[in-house]
Amino acid sequence: MDTITPAIIPRSQHTLSRKWISPNALRVLYRLKERGYLAYLVGGGVRDLLLGREPKDFDIATDATPRDIKKIFKNCRLIGRRFRLAHIHFHDEIIEVATFRSPAADEPEAETAAETALPPVPSAPESAAPEEQTAEPAPPPEPLPEAPHRPRPPRMLKTEEGMILRDNVFGTPEQDALRRDFTVNALFYNIADFSVIDYVDGMEDLRRGLIRIIGDPVVRFTEDPVRMVRAVRFAAILGFKIEENTGRALLELRDRIALASPARMYEEVLKLFLLGEGEKTFQLLRKTELFGVLFPRLNEWLNRETDGFPHVRIGKAFEWVDVCVQAGRQVAPHILFALMFGEYIEEKAEAFRSAGAVPLEALDRAVAEFLSEQVPRVQIPKKVALAIRDMLWNQSRFEKTKGKYPLYFLRRPGFSEAFEYFRFTSELTGERQELRAWWKEFIKAHPPVPAGERQEKKGHKQPERPPRKRRRRRRKPETRQPKA
Ligand code: ATP
Ligand code: MG
Repeated sequence: MDTITPAIIPRSQHTLSRKWISPNALRVLYRLKERGYLAYLVGGGVRDLLLGREPKDFDIATDATPRDIKKIFKNCRLIGRRFRLAHIHFHDEIIEVATFRSPAADEPEAETAAETALPPVPSAPESAAPEEQTAEPAPPPEPLPEAPHRPRPPRMLKTEEGMILRDNVFGTPEQDALRRDFTVNALFYNIADFSVIDYVDGMEDLRRGLIRIIGDPVVRFTEDPVRMVRAVRFAAILGFKIEENTGRALLELRDRIALASPARMYEEVLKLFLLGEGEKTFQLLRKTELFGVLFPRLNEWLNRETDGFPHVRIGKAFEWVDVCVQAGRQVAPHILFALMFGEYIEEKAEAFRSAGAVPLEALDRAVAEFLSEQVPRVQIPKKVALAIRDMLWNQSRFEKTKGKYPLYFLRRPGFSEAFEYFRFTSELTGERQELRAWWKEFIKAHPPVPAGERQEKKGHKQPERPPRKRRRRRRKPETRQPKA
């Protein structure tokens, strides 16, 4: 295989300054370099710093193996199965360090390179195999070339269609750059001389604002269909265009997203919609028709207008989430999904009610149905679905404004997010405006009770109790008998 000579952009010709790299990432980079290893800042950190954006995280690549890295850093944990990675733990940050990987799964020399880099295979178990345990005198010891090895998981594993299941073959920096997803994600910042190393013309695509997959788009999207969703995310977040060939392959292969792990897809979906550009991402997902692959039933429902009116609530929901995220407020997954699917679930619940179910049962069945529809593509965890159910159920409580009930509801956990949802739907639909105004006043008149203070009863403050004496705990008798 021909090697590529990378473009080396010296410090004087790029804008990436160490000032903006997290001190912990710098510490790790310098330490690796001092120990004689290559140490590069890679991925989104380099891309974002070159664009003058604040990176989400800092990833490092090196020629040190996970074992080497573990020896160098006390605060290191090795994680991951699909990718074996080192996590260096600092009190407020985790820095991810990966050994350069090879994309050339089927090439024998890649496997050989891995053999030299990886720790030795664990030796065969000491005890004899069952079929050797006989009463016969033991034969003289022989060399054990065919000793029963504990089967070692393959370092690279692909399905018949070419989808990567495991990828732990170590490689050179060049190979590592080529196995990355997009050109703008494959730039390396070298701590040794502060240059940027570019094997794939990533600098040019950064300048032109293009998301271009590295290599053959059909092969690369087949290897890992999640890359299609990532292409849309980066295009939306960075305001970039998807390059023509990349875009064509994406349209051609979009149905393959159904082959990706639904649990991994759930994590990706959170990144799609919770990073501050959810509305733009939603529009681009609809345009590329990836949205229909991720959320088939919701998409069908969105395409079916209700009484001639398009469903606009979902777009507004994403705008609302973006405003929160951009203001630095976290939006929990169940709020995101309630906003996305709320109207759809409510329609389902209504159908169950019309068929005779009582309201709570109708809602339960609607949420269960929504979850089972979604799980094959995006595996929304059950606890998130339960939280969505609770939030939707709480909506009916806003109708009760008489007596003690409102205060009881206000003090319940989950009130404030239920109110956020209530406010959002009321503002959007123009319904229940008086009720919304009533609750706003009520909330203002009843500020949260500071932790530890007792609730007022019947409008009177409870007399203060004398402070409780601290009682010493009695020692447990040591003579507890174990259960029979
Ligand atoms: P951000 O962290 O801002 O979401 P990122 O580009 O850093 O974006 P990560 O998921 O943190 O994305 O991944 C780090 C880098 O690892 C990427 O920049 C890319 O080079 C590589 N990478 C991640 N996922 C894939 C993938 N599915 N296929 C190939 N390379 C990938
Ligand atoms: Mg990253």
